[in-house]
Amino acid sequence: MSIDDLRRFVHGTSLDAKARARLEEAVPEEFFTVPGGLTAPERHALTYERLRRAGLAAPPASELLADPPALCALLERAAIADPPLFHLMLLHYTLALGPILRFGEGQEGTRPVRESLESMASFGTLLMTEVGRSNSHLSPRTVARHDPATGGFVLSTPDVRAAKFPTNTAHPELPKTAAVYATLVHGGEERGVFVFAVPLRGPGGAVPPGVRIVPAPETTGLQVDYAAVLLEEVRVPYEAWLRDGAGIGADGAFHDPHGPAAARLTRSMGIAPPVWRAVISASAAITRASAGMLLAHSAGRSTLGRLAPRRPLTDYRNQQEAVLGALASAYALTAVAAHATAPRPSPDAAAGGDAGAGPATAWAPWSAVDRDLALLKAAATAQAQETVSACRVHSGAPGFAAVERLNAYRGLTHAYQNAGGDNELIRYDTARAMADLDRYAPPGPELGPPDDGDLDSPAVWLFLARDAERRMRDRLAGRVEAALDGGEDAFTAWNGNLALAARTADACADRVVLEILAAAAGDGPRALGPVLRLHALDRLERRASALLNEGVVPPGFLDEVWAARRRTCDELAPRAQELAAAFELPAPVAAPAAFLP
Ligand SMILES: Cc1cc2nc3c(=O)[nH]c(=O)nc-3n(C[C@H](O)[C@H](O)[C@H](O)COP(=O)(O)OP(=O)(O)OC[C@H]3O[C@@H](n4cnc5c(N)ncnc54)[C@H](O)[C@@H]3O)c2cc1C
Repeated sequence: MSIDDLRRFVHGTSLDAKARARLEEAVPEEFFTVPGGLTAPERHALTYERLRRAGLAAPPASELLADPPALCALLERAAIADPPLFHLMLLHYTLALGPILRFGEGQEGTRPVRESLESMASFGTLLMTEVGRSNSHLSPRTVARHDPATGGFVLSTPDVRAAKFPTNTAHPELPKTAAVYATLVHGGEERGVFVFAVPLRGPGGAVPPGVRIVPAPETTGLQVDYAAVLLEEVRVPYEAWLRDGAGIGADGAFHDPHGPAAARLTRSMGIAPPVWRAVISASAAITRASAGMLLAHSAGRSTLGRLAPRRPLTDYRNQQEAVLGALASAYALTAVAAHATAPRPSPDAAAGGDAGAGPATAWAPWSAVDRDLALLKAAATAQAQETVSACRVHSGAPGFAAVERLNAYRGLTHAYQNAGGDNELIRYDTARAMADLDRYAPPGPELGPPDDGDLDSPAVWLFLARDAERRMRDRLAGRVEAALDGGEDAFTAWNGNLALAARTADACADRVVLEILAAAAGDGPRALGPVLRLHALDRLERRASALLNEGVVPPGFLDEVWAARRRTCDELAPRAQELAAAFELPAPVAAPAAFLP
């Protein structure tokens, strides 16, 4: 079994060496470090300058957006280099340019804004979330009104609670172009949520009339130039409306071939799948980097504990399982990312791809766009956050104080619990679709665990995951139905069951992930089998409380998981370096922190 097989698994086969090299050169090793002593605005300016250089060196934006593995590879590289660069790059390509290319297709008038973003003369920003209310995406209070006198639109934020926040618009000298999500009001009626392309800051950072930008205090979690934006009667031309086939005729009549307004919301949110693919890929990439760093910290480190002075740190099961578990989590997320970026039949090809085939939603628009991809985004960011945090803790003080990288990765995974579609809300909408059997079929019952319940067998992980998912769904559906039958309203019926709902969605995500791992273990290099098994065991351990609660497993289950994990770690320990080497981490990440003389 050669390391090349593992490398091929990690990097996939969709990009050839030349394409990969070009993307790597777009984010050169210099971008992996930030010089000391910068003020916050200088740091932000540096990130934008690097974004500009990356964008000019990479293939054209339209090519990247049409090629998910290439865009994801570029964004992965940015994520491990510098999380703020990833965040700004993601916004620029998928959330600013994405809607312009998609919804403004064929609109000649969008050419100037598109070209300014494609040439990196301006940076993209997203004005979607509003600060004062939860679930603001479902119904933005920022409105766009058609002005018959000019033929254009007037965009208005009604009050400060409807300010768009967060946005990356604070830097006073940098050009920004926004994708603004607003409710189009016409003829006294709300016509749905549409996107408008609006220059927010000109070449030197100047703000056009009516745009008010309020910089946020400096933060360190994911350092970008956050600001709130208020639009006070901002006038934009008709062509700023990314119409996506809708229009207002010469007679003033509004038409939307993709209406009614609720369908339009889902369609406008259909820009999310490229975001989710990139976030899942980046989650895998920073998990690989964190696992490599933890191994670098741990390997060869000696201990002084009195049970066995000078015993290597990784002889202790806790550290060994943390290191190997992190490597396994990285391989598992890599498999999930390959699954998410692989071509698949669009859930709604007829509607222009990606959007709108999902279930009805109550908490957020995301599951309606693509339930499975949204759920995988939530699962991948949750897993990455857990693993990256564990890598930080197991790297001790050097992992916190000697190098910023693990803190920065942790900031990124933490931010994306909310950003890119709030994980918690995605879980609730998933659970509701499961309970209602809305475009969801539960796993069928099976007689008992195959392979004598041997936890080494992928068939057994799948049996446990499917059994848990079915039982939880049935119980959730039964409880909500009973509450509704008993006269409770929908809010009360669901509100009493949110803990079970979140766990039920997790059970679905676990089953989907374990199916991906079982397939990868079957198709991939043989060396992958025990690695993915270790991750499956970690996942089953994490879910043991739910498995026990549902009666899927009896008391004593954890002892079995721990024994299987010890066996698997014994098998993997001699190969830890090889497993990390296959990640091919860039030198600045792979090298242990060395600032001491
Ligand atoms: C680092 C970062 C960058 C971002 N960048 C941008 C950007 O550039 N542009 C942009 O438009 N947005 C951006 N966002 C905003 C992001 O989309 C939102 O944070 C996210 O949708 C959550 O919305 P919220 O912040 O209003 O929080 P809330 O909606 O208040 O949600 C907070 C929590 O409250 C709970 N909750 C909320 N509603 C409900 C409910 N109905 N039922 C039960 N529980 C509920 C959930 O636990 C949820 O996690 C960014 C967010 C972060 C963290």
